[in-house]
Amino acid sequence: MIFTTRFAPSPTGPLHLGHAYSALLAHDLARASGGRFLLRIEDIDRARARPEWEAQIYEDLAWLGIDWPEPVMRQSGRLPVYHAVLQDLWERNAVFACHCTRRDIAEAANAPQEGATILGPDGIVYPGTCRGRRCGDGETAIPTQAALRLDMGAIAEGAAKAEPLGFHEAGCGPDGQSGWIGFTFEELCRDIGDVVLSRRDMGTSYHLSVVLDDAAQGITHVLRGQDLFEATKIHVVLQRLLGLPTPIYNHHKLIRDEAGRRLAKRDDARAISLYRSEGRTPQDIRKMVGL
Ligand code: GLU
Repeated sequence: MIFTTRFAPSPTGPLHLGHAYSALLAHDLARASGGRFLLRIEDIDRARARPEWEAQIYEDLAWLGIDWPEPVMRQSGRLPVYHAVLQDLWERNAVFACHCTRRDIAEAANAPQEGATILGPDGIVYPGTCRGRRCGDGETAIPTQAALRLDMGAIAEGAAKAEPLGFHEAGCGPDGQSGWIGFTFEELCRDIGDVVLSRRDMGTSYHLSVVLDDAAQGITHVLRGQDLFEATKIHVVLQRLLGLPTPIYNHHKLIRDEAGRRLAKRDDARAISLYRSEGRTPQDIRKMVGL
C-alpha cells in the first residue's frame, strides 16, 4: 500500500504557522517515503467558509513549496455521500435525532441527579435526553431540523465481543502516548458520549466527513495536531461502524505563541500571508516551526 497522507484545512481564516508545520511535515514525509500528499478542503461550515480564504490557502501552500495533485477534494461537493451514510446509520438505529440546544444540554448535565458534568472533545458529554428519538417502523426518513447523534451506548453493546479498539500512534499524543493506543467502549461512553454526526445547519459534521473522506482518498497516514488526539478515538469507532480501515495516526506538537497558547485562526499576526508580505522566505517559516 503506497504511503498516502493529506493536509485538510478549513477555509475559515488565514493559514498560520501551525498549519504550515502540519502541511510541511505531511508533505516532507510523503516525499521521503515515495508516497502521495493530497490536499482536501474541509468547507462544510458554509456559514464560515469563504472562497477568498480557499484561494489564500492554495497561494500560501504553493509559496511554501508544497504541491498536490488536482482536482482537490472539497467536502461541500460530497454532501450526498454523507447523507447516504447517515441514512444507513439512521436505519440501523446507530444514531438518534436530537433537538437539544447547548443550553438544554448544560441544564440537563447540571441537574442534581446527573453527577459531575464531564467535558469531552466536543464539549459537555451528552446527558442522553433525546436518546429515544430513533428510526421507527414505517418512518424511515431522517428527520429534518434535528441533529443526529451517535448512540455510543447502543454501539458498545453491539460490539461487545469485537476486537479491541485502538490505533497506531506514529507520532505522540499530548501526554507522550505512542505505539498502540487502546481504549474501551466504557471509556468512550464515559468521556466522549453521543457525539453529533450531523449538525442541523450542515447535514454532516467534522467527524463523519473526515472519516469518510480519509477512506475515500485511501489515506494511510493521518498527520494532525495533538489537539485532535481524543477526536481520533471517535474516528476509530466510526471506522469500525462503517467497515472502513483505520489509518496510522501521527499526532504532532502544537505550535504555540510566546505565552504558550496554541495558535488559532484569529492569530492573524502569525498568518503565513503576513510573513510573506514582510519578505520572509519559506526557509524562515521552516526554521520558525522547527523543521
Ligand atoms: N479541517 C480540520 C482542521 O482544519 C482538519 C483536521 C484533521 O482531521 O486533520 O483542523
